Amino acid sequence: MTAETPITQDVLTIPRKLPEGESGKVNLIGLTRTALREALIEAGTPEKQAKMRVNQIWQWLYHWGVREFEAMTNLAKPYRALLAEKFTIDLPEIVSKQVSADGTRKYLVRIAGGHEVEVVYIPETDRGTLCISSQVGCTLTCSFCHTGTQKLVRNLTAGEIVGQIMLARDDLDEWPAPGTGTGDNGPRLLSNIVLMGMGEPLYNFDNVRDAMKIAMDGEGIALSRRRITLSTSGVVPEIAKCAEEIGCLMAVSFHATTDEVRNKLVPINKRWNIEQLLNALREYPRLSNSERITFEYVMLKDVNDTDADARRLVKLIQGIPAKINLIPFNEWPGAPYQRSDWERIERFADIVHKAGYASPIRTPRGEDIMAACGQLKSATERARKSRAQIAQDAGL
Ligand code: SAH
Ligand code: SF4
Repeated sequence: MTAETPITQDVLTIPRKLPEGESGKVNLIGLTRTALREALIEAGTPEKQAKMRVNQIWQWLYHWGVREFEAMTNLAKPYRALLAEKFTIDLPEIVSKQVSADGTRKYLVRIAGGHEVEVVYIPETDRGTLCISSQVGCTLTCSFCHTGTQKLVRNLTAGEIVGQIMLARDDLDEWPAPGTGTGDNGPRLLSNIVLMGMGEPLYNFDNVRDAMKIAMDGEGIALSRRRITLSTSGVVPEIAKCAEEIGCLMAVSFHATTDEVRNKLVPINKRWNIEQLLNALREYPRLSNSERITFEYVMLKDVNDTDADARRLVKLIQGIPAKINLIPFNEWPGAPYQRSDWERIERFADIVHKAGYASPIRTPRGEDIMAACGQLKSATERARKSRAQIAQDAGL
């Protein structure tokens, strides 16, 4: 790659055309309500009953977390048999789980085709956040991000995206017992979702949207749109669409205050620069009726961490309701950067804070198990570039 390499959204591996799996049966997980209805009618459900059947099956799948048609006891036995003949309830598979000293859990999840993605659960005192992936690897090549060095890329299906949430609920043992409601057993362990794992969610828009619609549906997993945050590196044309069609909170990987530096750190900036990005973000709160945008800013020693950067940052985002999340750089093998010194990060935070913005410094979580931001990359697909290659790609 060179500085002139076009930024494309090519995915090297296209997912098999799901929902038809190996068995020729249709996987129900990941179908929207409309698609589920159509599938049921095609399988022989009388149109008049379709709405009720959708509601019943939806509740079993996404409210009780049931995986067998046999267990859907409010459906007649012959209908359960019909469902089993035509459909499957397929989730990705947890291959391994690591638990950090700080309680963070990292799951390695295998999806169709044998690919793997990572999912991270971060327990906090007042919430539990699940960081989910939208792609295997990432087509973008941000120079500080481990995922960006993984060559193999494919989009996840909607079922594989919502499936990550379902697997985590399995592991946390958080499905309400049939007959009880969500929250009957106290605060939710999995209360928030961040699309901050592997991949660029806005380059897999339709699947991410469908999966989030399922997660937000009040008759199922029922997470409010205000508890879901999508992080983008800046796919400008999709930002308004995200506001209108998903309506979740937005985070942006900002990371630099001049186009020159951002081009190196977040190469998609060469396609849509800071000004275009900020214009799209200015519109977001109004379009999505949400309060503020989160600006993520990774602190890289001697690269983007000066007082002048902090001042430029607050000037650039003037007028946008915002919170600035400062992320101390998380190291990974071969990374061409270092974390800024602690005093530097605090000084930067101070300048931003004095300008009137919340500027939390994100405590790295799960670093001991390589679960922190930007460290994710499936261990089995380490088509890792050399340190020299990464540095060259970054134009360093
Ligand atoms: N592709 C999306 C979402 C995934 S990345 C995006 O780029 O926004 C989630 C966050 O972690 C992003 O802000 C990303 O820039 C940041 N990140 C990536 N590598 C990192 C690293 N090594 N240390 C700290 N943060 C990193
Ligand atoms: Fe992809 Fe985000 Fe990593 Fe950039 S920071 S390479 S967009 S996952």
